[in-house]
Amino acid sequence: MGDSAMHLYDMVVVGGGPAGYTAALYAARAGLDVVVLERMAPGGQAALTAWIDNYPGFPEGIDGVTLGQNLRAQAERFGVKTVLTAVKALRLAGERKEADTDEGTFSGRTLVFAAGARHRELGLPGEKTLTGRGVSYCAACDGQFFRGKTAVVVGGGNSAAGDALSLSKLCRKVIVIHRRDTLRAEKRLAESAEKAENLSFCWNSTVSGLLGDDRLTGVRVKNLLTGAETELACDALFVSIGMAPETELLRGQLHLDKDGYIPAEESTVTEIPGVFAAGDVRTKALRQIVTAAADGASAARSAEKYLESH
Ligand code: NAP
Repeated sequence: MGDSAMHLYDMVVVGGGPAGYTAALYAARAGLDVVVLERMAPGGQAALTAWIDNYPGFPEGIDGVTLGQNLRAQAERFGVKTVLTAVKALRLAGERKEADTDEGTFSGRTLVFAAGARHRELGLPGEKTLTGRGVSYCAACDGQFFRGKTAVVVGGGNSAAGDALSLSKLCRKVIVIHRRDTLRAEKRLAESAEKAENLSFCWNSTVSGLLGDDRLTGVRVKNLLTGAETELACDALFVSIGMAPETELLRGQLHLDKDGYIPAEESTVTEIPGVFAAGDVRTKALRQIVTAAADGASAARSAEKYLESH
């Protein structure tokens, strides 16, 4: 706590996911003094993923929590410091980049912003109250609470298909509600989901309302072709409709695109000198652990170059 206000790090990393820890690892190996500020647990969204089969180097796959711990341990082996604290405000314009937290203000000559993304919400009345009472955004975290029950999954991408598949192994019945008549998930996932016996699809439909006061008891389903609304009893609703970037802290300091992402090329260089955007917060075509890690390495290299010329 005490040293945070006085000490000037070479690099402050906001976010301890694959992007943040890879930036920290590369920077520390290049001799920089680095602190990672992470508000939950190392690994970011990856740590919320039950099993990861598409990150190279793990032939049998790896669970997300272990991958997160490994990312941290590897960076710390080279002297990176981790502080588990939420960043409340950032001051980025000056030579000294400052991050305010409950543990004090952390200052860096450079700052890598790698705060990742969060789950998008449906925006329905009662959604916030019922979160944790039947409404969930993380099948890997909460699926186990609905063993033998009926779960609805809303969405049609990789997350929805993957969530529906893993829930089909736990729940009695899983119903996917999607606003189109086909999944946009990758073929392998979509085919496996369509084959699962206790998994059914409700196409061209949206969840238009949540039922239940203290606990979710069902959802209202709107057919987008006919406009008809019906009620569907269920124990859980998993909202798997994609992600939104965690960039609110940057509003007014940095230009963001219409979806809230930070416009930056592969170099991760942003319009503020000394500030780099890595991982899911950056404009890019593919948001995966491997592309986040790649951004981390680029951010460290770009930060090194910046420090050499300042
Ligand atoms: P996504 O690909 O953006 O899909 C979001 C889905 O939710 C779409 O089907 C979309 O419908 C639907 N949707 C969005 N807003 C909605 C709303 N308000 N109401 C109802 N439906 C709504 O998101 P994702 O599946 O979370 O994937 C995000 C990224 O992570 C992607 O790049 C994905 O490839 C990656 N990912 C990869 C894996 C993997 O195994 N490799 C697993 C999970 C995620 P429309 O189709 O109509 O737009």
